Amino acid sequence: MAIKVQGHVINGEHKAQQSSAYIDVINPANGEIVAQTTAGTAEEVDKAVAAAKAAFPGWRSTPASERAALIARIALVLGANLEELIELECSCTGILASRMASFDVPALMQIIQTFAENLEDYPFVEYPPVRTLPEAHDVKVFKEPLGVCGLISPWNAPLFVTFVKMIPALAAGNTVVIKPSESSSVAIVRVAELLQSILPPGVVNVVTGYGREAGAALVAHPDVAKISFTGSTNTGRMIQRTAADTMKRVTLELGGKGAGIALPDAPIELTARGATFAFLFHAGQVCISGTRLFIHESIHDQLVARMVELAAALKPGSQFDPQTTLAPMAFKTHYDRVMGYIDSAKEQGATLVCGGEPMVVPDAPESLFIQPTIFTDVTDDMRIYREEIFGPVLSVIKYSDVDDAIRMANDSCYGLSAGVWSGDPIAAQSIARQLEAGTVWVNEWHALTGDVSFGGMKQSGYGREINMASIESYLESKTYLTSFETDPAAKALQGLLH
Ligand code: NAD
Repeated sequence: MAIKVQGHVINGEHKAQQSSAYIDVINPANGEIVAQTTAGTAEEVDKAVAAAKAAFPGWRSTPASERAALIARIALVLGANLEELIELECSCTGILASRMASFDVPALMQIIQTFAENLEDYPFVEYPPVRTLPEAHDVKVFKEPLGVCGLISPWNAPLFVTFVKMIPALAAGNTVVIKPSESSSVAIVRVAELLQSILPPGVVNVVTGYGREAGAALVAHPDVAKISFTGSTNTGRMIQRTAADTMKRVTLELGGKGAGIALPDAPIELTARGATFAFLFHAGQVCISGTRLFIHESIHDQLVARMVELAAALKPGSQFDPQTTLAPMAFKTHYDRVMGYIDSAKEQGATLVCGGEPMVVPDAPESLFIQPTIFTDVTDDMRIYREEIFGPVLSVIKYSDVDDAIRMANDSCYGLSAGVWSGDPIAAQSIARQLEAGTVWVNEWHALTGDVSFGGMKQSGYGREINMASIESYLESKTYLTSFETDPAAKALQGLLH
């Protein structure tokens, strides 16, 4: 792939910004530079926010039926350019093309379709029953868009995460400025460029660049009404603090430390496959990964042995080769971080039962693969038990009492995902109900649908995304009260005098 120099999309124009610095984007499966992204500045953020602000009055007054039709056209544009978008997204992030085709793209299409189909009927005006005012009053509650929304996304699922923010924001009548991750903005810039053929200029803008510069400028900007952020809990904390200065609305989708509980009756093969998929999907670089597994002592050894076989069978390689089943770490500093966690577990006394080393691919010596890694005998004082690793590393903890397993599963500052493995899925639901997480699975992992909400508890963030109800977080209620009394002032005075 030829190196692509990439600029921002501001007010309908896509230009490489000659004056700015560039960030190299490297394919983590082979070490080649595939693109250069413009390192945006506060000045460029300011231009993008000004464009979005200017476009807001026109976009908010576009009837919901027309916005719905335009959202349906977004799905068509995506569909018509899928091959190119998958190539860009996967080259820059290491995401397997097979995963994009089987998970990200169908999920996205469902979400876009849901908004396109339901937007026209959405109750943007409500007529609540009113009991305490005279009958001669007209009371309405309007749901109004907020204005310019800043959407900040991470590198592990750039298109998916950006779309689950952008679609409800636009559906509600807001305009947006997107700040993608510095290491994975290529596909998002291309989407924004394509959308200019169907949306008015300024409705969708993208500024690429570092979080500390472009991202921070967007969060601090006084003309931005809301920030929807997906990323690490530490960055989320900083964003919440900065947003407080201008009282911005904030949605935070943050980190996780997903806990699964394998009950004594858990079917070995189903659980081994499911729990292996839970921690190795995208090599663990997913917020909802199942990275702690509590296994009952009666099945511990058998289950671990089968998971070791399954994990060891994963194949690294090009993200475009259908035989590849293991993704690389997305970039070098992240690779070093994950290796650091593996070293810490060895030092802190966990038992390494598989993996634990870099995975050398002969054709691609610069690639960033790490062996699927399982540690047993993990205890709650170890870093790998507590901290989000975001790599192919599983912590296994043996238990004998299910109440202990539930307590340990909930013993985390995170609350994004959890699960239960059992031969009796109905009975297992009562344990699932006790787990503190925004999404809890029984006998599966990673399944998401645009029909239900998604989001975190505790330090995994707040707010919900993905389903139609997420439009609420891009709207504000305005209450209108109109009196039809001929002389309401006199009436009010009368009321006071009596
Ligand atoms: P990150 O927090 O480093 O960066 C996320 C985004 O924030 C990037 O675009 C970055 O440039 C920007 N940013 C960084 N500092 C900023 C600042 N000071 N002000 C404004 N923006 C700033 O996260 P990451 O490493 O890109 O992504 C991995 C993290 O994302 C993991 O913790 C993962 O769990 C989380 N994640 C959560 C979800 C979810 O839905 N809960 C989904 C995907 C990823």
